[in-house]
Amino acid sequence: MTAFDPSIYSPRADLLLGRVILVTGAGSGIGRALALDLAAHGATVALSGRSIRKLEHVYDEIAASGYPQAALVPLDLENALANQYDALAEALDREFGRLDGLVHNAAILGTRAPIAHFDVPTWCRVLQVNLTAEFALTQVCLPLLEKSADASLIYTTSGVGKLGRAYWGAYAVSKFGVEGLAQILAHEYEGNDRLRINLVNPGATRTDMRALAYPAEDASRLRTPAEITATYLYLLGPDARGVTGQRLDCQP
Ligand code: NAP
Repeated sequence: MTAFDPSIYSPRADLLLGRVILVTGAGSGIGRALALDLAAHGATVALSGRSIRKLEHVYDEIAASGYPQAALVPLDLENALANQYDALAEALDREFGRLDGLVHNAAILGTRAPIAHFDVPTWCRVLQVNLTAEFALTQVCLPLLEKSADASLIYTTSGVGKLGRAYWGAYAVSKFGVEGLAQILAHEYEGNDRLRINLVNPGATRTDMRALAYPAEDASRLRTPAEITATYLYLLGPDARGVTGQRLDCQP
């Protein structure tokens, strides 16, 4: 298999027509840009996130552009209880009867600090939002993904999800966990050509999270979220059929 090159991938306009795709953290940053781009390529996007106001804004942007009508499925990944996960899956099942894609995008940075002094409540919060909530959401959405003829599950990782670096603490550990979760699931679904499971590493991107991690950086040199979505589109569409258990970069 030749390596996927996002710089030359050119998704056709109707790549995702008719597909129902759930995106977490869709109210801002990469998730917002991705939701808009998925809708622009024909997908019906289920917008999830903690701020309903931000999600409604994206919903309105999609409507104003004439793209397929989106759905609002807010969920606070830090505080949601089991019945709220179930309710989200039930709402999607009622409305669409299946899911063709799920992008686990929402995450928090927490603080950057040495392990010796890392604040324990912050550690727990980051692991909850970035890892445990993804496991729980995956679990309730798998039956919906299994109802699709061609489903794609995407987890978002980071450079520090593969190689530990000083002071990245809970965030890096959560992404190591996400990589493990995706690898385990891909192994469990090996041989199932109707559900692919992959990891995406966005690379340095101009968002609030990046600004929090690198406050002194000149952000104008970074790619914008809208410039890095090609890898997600590829994995969510039919061109990636059979591609599973991979870790793809959005940037060289
Ligand atoms: P961002 O701008 O901070 O956006 C994060 C999103 O997650 C926001 O929409 C946020 O919602 C949502 N979120 C946070 N806590 C939540 C909660 N408790 N429940 C539900 N949603 C919650 O970050 P980003 O840069 O776009 O990051 C997107 C993904 O890319 C993350 O997984 C991140 O780790 C990864 N990544 C980013 C970079 C980069 O350079 N930007 C590099 C590598 C990996 P609110 O808007 O309501 O806060």
